[in-house]
Amino acid sequence: MFSEKILALAAECEKDCREQFEYIDSIAFKNTQKVMSVFAQNRLSDRHFAPTSGYGYNDDGRDLCDKLFADAFGAEAGFARHSIINGTHALSIGLYALLRPGDTLLSVAGKPYDTLDEVIGISGKSGDGSLADFNIGYKQIDLDENGYPRLDKIKEALLQDKSIKVVFVQRSKGYSARRTLTVSDINSICDTVREYSDAYVMVDNCYGAFTEESEPYADLLVGSLIKNAGGGMAESGGYLVGTAKAVELASYRYSTVGVGLECGASLGQTKSMIKGLFYAPHTVAQAVKTAVFAARIFEKLGFTVSPKYNEKRSDIIQTFTLGSEDALVKFCLGIQAGSPVDAHVAPVPWEMPGYNDRVIMAAGAFTQGSSIELSCDGPVRPPYIAYLQGGLTYESGKYGILKAAQTVTE
Ligand SMILES: *Cc1c(COP(=O)(O)O)cnc(C)c1O
Repeated sequence: MFSEKILALAAECEKDCREQFEYIDSIAFKNTQKVMSVFAQNRLSDRHFAPTSGYGYNDDGRDLCDKLFADAFGAEAGFARHSIINGTHALSIGLYALLRPGDTLLSVAGKPYDTLDEVIGISGKSGDGSLADFNIGYKQIDLDENGYPRLDKIKEALLQDKSIKVVFVQRSKGYSARRTLTVSDINSICDTVREYSDAYVMVDNCYGAFTEESEPYADLLVGSLIKNAGGGMAESGGYLVGTAKAVELASYRYSTVGVGLECGASLGQTKSMIKGLFYAPHTVAQAVKTAVFAARIFEKLGFTVSPKYNEKRSDIIQTFTLGSEDALVKFCLGIQAGSPVDAHVAPVPWEMPGYNDRVIMAAGAFTQGSSIELSCDGPVRPPYIAYLQGGLTYESGKYGILKAAQTVTE
């Protein structure tokens, strides 16, 4: 199955990663402890898993699930719903909830994730209801040359422009080449904003949740349930947690003004969402270990990787600079062959709508598009970077990485 050479290399890499693995396990234990005590304090019971239909009035399980997510993130309030279709939807709910005509959105970690271009209205289109259509302005401050937030520039912008209502921070590098922000980086942004204005801080927490011991203390912390916070168990959904005021506004945008969180049938999804929260600290640790192992083995094979296996992490993303189209394609073929679902299919680069270059993706997940499950993708352009994330178990993640390593070196 795997060559002796690859297996020997893997054993060597695992030895190198031992200290990192211990640290990752310790974070998983701390976060599990937090989740377990939140479950106990909130008296989670079997009855909370019962489904509701129709309006979903008096759905105690749904209400408790909201509370569990808020508490687990250390937030005052929050909600997690299966009916939020993805991370972009969750982020849109937050943005439209907090911003009003005449206000300005200030993004302070460079440009937000690509799918938000059309939401903000910086994609060039107009008339489809973007924030720009509602006369909501957009400003941006890039990270400094070392990838850290420019607190002085943020302060200056806030003092100068009183229309700034939301300061937006993307935690994970996502699909850009920048550094991932840590919880402490983001908290320092929160401190600066709170000192100089009453703007809300909203954090795109996608790929970041449970990678550190605590979460940023933003007004709104937003993410997807088919990434970290759903633990590989949630079938779909998103979460928004934060301060009571921001969450209340978000609840009106999620459903409708006057209804907020009091309606919305859970349709039997509550159990998998809560079970997902239970698994999340562990599953995230499996994904981070997979990334660390992958970083070490590909570094040893001579590729540039980021972050390095022994660097601090605040998300589950791992990048590999593969240097040629051939290596990028082979890498993705290997990951696909190492997936639990659709291992028999071969991904090919394609012209994806909204992208300038062809993109190749590998994913064989139980939940469609879930990227807490092992998956990778890369735009087919120099220097041919593959972005990898996920792995529901370290063992299956390692298996996928070894498949990729074998395919790339063959
Ligand atoms: C995944 C992701 C999103 C949202 O993407 P969806 O595909 O809509 O879930 C937003 N920001 C970042 C940083 C992400 O990684």
